[in-house]
Amino acid sequence: MFDVNEIRKDFPILDRKVNGKPLVYLDNAATSQTPRQVIDVIVEYYQNYNANIHRGVHALSQEATDKYEQARIKIQKHFNAAKAHEIIFTSGTTHSINIVANGFSSLLKKGDEVLVSAMEHHSNIVPWQMLCERTGGLLKVIPMNQDGELLMDEYDKLLSDKTKLVFCNHISNALGTINPIEEIIEKAHGVGAAVLIDGAQAAPHIVADVQALDVDFYTISAHKVCGPTGAGMLYGKEELLTKLPPYQGGGEMIAEVTFEKTSYADLPHKFEAGTPNICGGIAFGAALDYMNSIGFDDIAKYEHELLEYATQKLLEIDKLKIYGTAKDKTSVISFNIEGVHPYDIGSILDKLGIAVRTGHHCAQPIMDFFNIPGTVRASFCFYNTKEEVDVLVEGVKRAKNMLL
Ligand SMILES: *Cc1c(COP(=O)(O)O)cnc(C)c1O
Repeated sequence: MFDVNEIRKDFPILDRKVNGKPLVYLDNAATSQTPRQVIDVIVEYYQNYNANIHRGVHALSQEATDKYEQARIKIQKHFNAAKAHEIIFTSGTTHSINIVANGFSSLLKKGDEVLVSAMEHHSNIVPWQMLCERTGGLLKVIPMNQDGELLMDEYDKLLSDKTKLVFCNHISNALGTINPIEEIIEKAHGVGAAVLIDGAQAAPHIVADVQALDVDFYTISAHKVCGPTGAGMLYGKEELLTKLPPYQGGGEMIAEVTFEKTSYADLPHKFEAGTPNICGGIAFGAALDYMNSIGFDDIAKYEHELLEYATQKLLEIDKLKIYGTAKDKTSVISFNIEGVHPYDIGSILDKLGIAVRTGHHCAQPIMDFFNIPGTVRASFCFYNTKEEVDVLVEGVKRAKNMLL
């Protein structure tokens, strides 16, 4: 049984006060909070078996290596990857995307086309621009409508035998739109293009089955699924990961080194140069265990209730406009009040203990599309409550009265 009051007890931070008020944490799309089950795993690592992995013959190193590789298998199972070595540990989505973008430098030719959606996070725009600059490739954009939904007819027109890569987020962090990735992937494969789906914003809400999706690359960050910062994953199909050259050179990623030539290690180590975030990887696995113990079906259902409730309550405020009104969306609400700068609303909400994000949310092209400087974004997690929504709505009303 899903019981939000019981769940909240797992999150020590939710008890704290901010500016003398109980914390209302509604910035979950930026980072999620960490339950004590995950904090315990982090403490346990440093107290009991902190050691470098894959190298030592000694007991602690073995223990750390086993736990780290067990975490990889947990992540593999969670996303239903065919093989554990198709899961590359990274420092997060940005790092994962850069591995692929750099790898494609040697595979992309002048005149090849790369498609990205109009609602990407900067981390899914800039690396591709850099890739195109290096290779003479062309970056083209799949446009969206006023609701924040991709125009799939336009996508069809953009696809051709020149298209080599398609990049799209599964869920937009700025608008909450759930993109039709099944269709995007299938159509891209129809012209022989590879697809990277940025799952950073989807992972807290939906479990992606990478085999069923037939996706080529899928990326996530642990800190958005109740795990630590500085840990994440790149999933890639074995065949493609084998073709991609490594991103960084160093220890751990080699098979043999001489001054004349180095041969690279097998997957996944080819992409895991240097000492990784061992504790972070292990805690990432623990975070997925925690989320699964709550259950993604219950999470989705409850968050949808919160979204509907908050949307309805916020829209009762005169002059408030919500950006991102796609039919399929998750619990992210981006909004503005006519005539008020989003930053001013955010500052007043902070005084009331309410944490929201203001600004362009690393998605400046979306803000340009709507012709606004930014938005206030409230993003809800399964540990938020309707009472917290009420506090937010009262706070926004108060801010509006002070500022208008
Ligand atoms: C958070 C986020 C990213 C970036 O993740 P990092 O953990 O900062 O690397 C990329 N894309 C989307 C959709 C995100 O929500």
